[in-house]
Amino acid sequence: MLSIDPLVEPPNVRLSLPGSKSITNRALVVAGLANGESSLSGVLFSEDTHVMMDSLQKMGVKIRQNSNDQSVSIIGTGGRLQRPAETIWVHQSGTTARFCLPLAALCGQEVTIDGDQQIRNRPHEGLCKALESLGAQIEYLEVANSFPLVVNGKNLKGGQITLNGSISSQFISALLLAAPCFPDQLELNIEGDLVSRPYIDMTISVMQAFGAQAERVTDRRYVISPTGYQNSRYEIEPDASAASYFFAAAAISGGSVTVEGIGNQSIQGDTGFVGIIEKMGAKVTRLDHALSVTGTGSLAGIDVSMKEISDTVPTLAAIAPLASGSTAISDVAFIAKKESDRVTALITELRKIGVKAEKTETGMIIYPGEIQKGTIHTYDDHRIAMAFSILGLVVPGITLDSPQCVAKTFPSFFDVLDQLRVAGDAKLSILAIDGPAGSGKSTLAKQVAKQLGLEYLDTGAMYRSVAAVALAQSASLDDETGIAEIAGRINIQFTNGKVYVDDDDLTEAIRSPEVNAAVSKVAANPGVRSIMRRQQRSWARVRGGGVLEGRDIGSVVFPEAQLKVYVTATPEERARRRSLESGRSVEDIMEEILQRDTKDSTRDDSPLVADQEAVVIDTTGKTIQETSDYIEELFLQ
Ligand code: C5P
Repeated sequence: MLSIDPLVEPPNVRLSLPGSKSITNRALVVAGLANGESSLSGVLFSEDTHVMMDSLQKMGVKIRQNSNDQSVSIIGTGGRLQRPAETIWVHQSGTTARFCLPLAALCGQEVTIDGDQQIRNRPHEGLCKALESLGAQIEYLEVANSFPLVVNGKNLKGGQITLNGSISSQFISALLLAAPCFPDQLELNIEGDLVSRPYIDMTISVMQAFGAQAERVTDRRYVISPTGYQNSRYEIEPDASAASYFFAAAAISGGSVTVEGIGNQSIQGDTGFVGIIEKMGAKVTRLDHALSVTGTGSLAGIDVSMKEISDTVPTLAAIAPLASGSTAISDVAFIAKKESDRVTALITELRKIGVKAEKTETGMIIYPGEIQKGTIHTYDDHRIAMAFSILGLVVPGITLDSPQCVAKTFPSFFDVLDQLRVAGDAKLSILAIDGPAGSGKSTLAKQVAKQLGLEYLDTGAMYRSVAAVALAQSASLDDETGIAEIAGRINIQFTNGKVYVDDDDLTEAIRSPEVNAAVSKVAANPGVRSIMRRQQRSWARVRGGGVLEGRDIGSVVFPEAQLKVYVTATPEERARRRSLESGRSVEDIMEEILQRDTKDSTRDDSPLVADQEAVVIDTTGKTIQETSDYIEELFLQ
């Protein structure tokens, strides 16, 4: 559960967003098929792109990831993919599922592909039929034209095929991407209505950047020569679908949001979303490599076909009730087959919060009106979760039942959302106390909080709670997604000095030697940290501020804190204090806290550091009262 904190100030921010999922997955495929080593920058690291990398690696592509600078190096296979030793498991990733079907055929031997139930339910018929007509054999293990299936491309050839464009443009993109590595030329004709055309242009653009000869004879006819791909250095644009949420936030809040790296030159159709909110009344500035949206305080309803930019339908639907007139979205019946049945999901959730919304023949109509608070079911669909988060910025009391699904394409979504709240957060009275293990932060923070009349939050106890639950459930600490899910699911409460997790009193359990040994690993998990940060910020926003103690409060959670303190003491002194409290030997404790300090200060995500602006206080030889008086004085200055 995550309740969305409303904005207290309109945002005024420039955002650097993660790379486009669609371009990342295309570039990974093409680089994996190319001759030689390619390097990709601006890469999105999310569930969907990890699944793609994993699948390509199983087929012999060598990939070196560097998530610190969002880049990957890829040693391509020159189109000679290997037969994977095991099933290619695409989880929930639609692009991976579709793109891997023709890739599996390129392996020239039997390859099994399967995925989560969500993917098994999604249609693949057009693509399967097209591959069969190109000579591949497909055996369906359960239901015809659906996953799980076995592809054998030993007789694969080129030729002429016709695909229906009305189901998913990913079918067309999938064939185009693999086509330069087919034995002969491919001529691809598109019949029926064509949805999401900009994605086909994007596919062609990425292919050409790697030397493919992909000719668009007409909008409905493409000829791809069997030239293979050449390695390249390729820069991936930030994700325009992800940007839509922040543009919408500016439009409804009267704030201003600029997204760098996408503009007039973008190859992503979803940048067209700004045109819609511009027509509704927002002010839009388009530069070659940046887009800005400023809310003007008035938002009219609109009647719009979103056939070409259907991934942004949830964004528009979620803000539509705030417009002065009704909003009709048309030509998007096919989004019923996305991660969820998006038309039904959006209408159901809008109605839940008091909005009048109806299904139409090809989309929906949403009416303005009073919006009530409520808990939104996310259907495990990242776009439903992100869209309603934006509405929650201006409507108090919007809660998401399972926010974790954003990790599919945008693991840092809620952190970026918090960047919209920076101006509001700067008004909170925050005292940040950070420092290494056993430095006396908790006792000190409690004392200072009392002196200042503020509430106090022990953020270490939150990480400990996640670790305690993970250990109790015998979860593998290496399973980052699984542990992050635990963090997202549990409800941690502090009442009268006790720590409750889902109503169980874990005050003692979270201090056990097992938790001491496990907590730093759990706390190094970026998914866990993202959830904890959100909860810590919400805790303070509800109270107008407070004393928070931990490892990254001043550096990451509240970089604009009123006062940042970094308390430390010699390891001997820290171990001695803990030993007096617990009765354990000084040596034992020293070893444990030094190990934790090393892990905490060397992790990638928000390592323990004394923030540049922090006042560093060495408490060795000082009493709690002396130090807390000193901090009180600094805070009140
Ligand atoms: O403060 P305490 O020692 O109880 O914290 C336990 C562990 O939780 C730390 O060793 C660290 O791994 C993690 N932690 C963190 N960030 C915070 C607070 C605690 O990583 N803000």
